[in-house]
Amino acid sequence: MELNLLPILNFDGKRMQINESVEIIPRPGDAFSLSAPVKLSATAENVGGTIEIIGNVETHLTAVCDRCAEEFELPLVFSFEERFKKLDEFSEADENPDISPLDGTAVDLDEIIYTNLYMNLPSKLLCSEDCRGLCPVCGKNRNFGTCSCETDSTDPRFDVLDKLLGE
Ligand SMILES: [Zn+2]
Ligand SMILES: [Zn+2]
Repeated sequence: MELNLLPILNFDGKRMQINESVEIIPRPGDAFSLSAPVKLSATAENVGGTIEIIGNVETHLTAVCDRCAEEFELPLVFSFEERFKKLDEFSEADENPDISPLDGTAVDLDEIIYTNLYMNLPSKLLCSEDCRGLCPVCGKNRNFGTCSCETDSTDPRFDVLDKLLGE
């Protein structure tokens, strides 16, 4: 979805409110899908020629657990800030890395939300903090019960212990 900035683009001090439900489409390779549309509430304000967009995002993801490979629901709430300057004024700007050039009169909200969503994902996607994962021998999901595999013998620490005991 494009956000048209024309109402504030040339008017210092002007502000607009955005309350939208945005459809974000996951891309190939993503470890999640969106189980609910993204709820966006944001303000865009012209501050001395810089367009500041400050927003809050609320959504639900369906993700695959890094440990047990089961799908789970992950509520996600985050906020973001983006700054833009018109392309012709941008070249004169002291190079502030937080300000992006604005080519035209609109910004791509989908892209902004997608990028920020990615940055706000937990570094590990876990169905629960104490997910017990899969048994490395039989592949059984240990959250649903234990199996009878002797996984301890594959632990190198025990190999050392075995050697010590055997001598
Ligand atoms: Zn899990
Ligand atoms: Zn097992």
